[in-house]
Amino acid sequence: MNIQRKPEWLRKKANPGDQSGMRQLLGELRLNTVCQQALCPNISECFACGQATFLILGKNCTRLCSFCNVEKTVPIPVDPDEPKRVAEAVARLKLSHVVITSPTRDDLPDGGAGMYAATVGEIRNSSPATRIELLIPDFQGDRVSLETVLASRPDILAHNIETVPRLYHIRSGSDYRRSLDVLRLSACLSADLCTKSGLMLGMGETEEEVLRVCADLRDSGCTYLSIGQYLAPSRHHYPVQEYIHPERFESLRKHALGMGFKHVESGPYVRSSYHAGSYV
Ligand code: SF4
Repeated sequence: MNIQRKPEWLRKKANPGDQSGMRQLLGELRLNTVCQQALCPNISECFACGQATFLILGKNCTRLCSFCNVEKTVPIPVDPDEPKRVAEAVARLKLSHVVITSPTRDDLPDGGAGMYAATVGEIRNSSPATRIELLIPDFQGDRVSLETVLASRPDILAHNIETVPRLYHIRSGSDYRRSLDVLRLSACLSADLCTKSGLMLGMGETEEEVLRVCADLRDSGCTYLSIGQYLAPSRHHYPVQEYIHPERFESLRKHALGMGFKHVESGPYVRSSYHAGSYV
């Protein structure tokens, strides 16, 4: 396959819906989204529907993953008012489900865990019915940071495994087993919590490796799974190795459900927060 040319199933048309309300709100409240920072291909669809994944703790990451478009420069100081502004956005958008994430902040003593917890607290105060999903970094395996986040009682705790262990060299500073441990410990410490992970395909992994990762995630107590096509943000990023046919995504979805995941989204345009409110 010529990987320079996207196959027909990846030529997505921009949603013609109005995104101006979302963009104005984000500007007014000085909020970042991973939708914009990661150049998500679903942005026109999600913004037009009033959906966004909020990126707290600034937009600069302390790690150097070669597949990711989030900026890799010196992080900004923590803004203690940010949780209130996120909560205001959630209330104004009347979100029934919200996803909060951050760049990895290895420079902070708690990795940003306190800000995740504060954000959950503010959203609970102003939008008590909203289901809150946190997509967290690995906190370098720090248990106290993870416990801080779990104590805020999010509804879903997500941590993306991203790829198969053989390709972890593109996830600078990360460790496959440590990521599994984040999910395992979260499921162990909070019995009523749902855990979730995400996997990108098309990076050079084999089918057998993908199924092994799915099995490892299930062994770690993971209940929800997203599987999507990796798309390189630019020619300076890790190159796409393969475009995966939609039928293979569907076959993987069925296979993963058979392994015991409660809900699986699998398709070329699936991202970990895509249709996040539909996971039941
Ligand atoms: S799929 Fe997620 S990251 Fe992409 S635009 Fe939608 S909410 Fe944002």
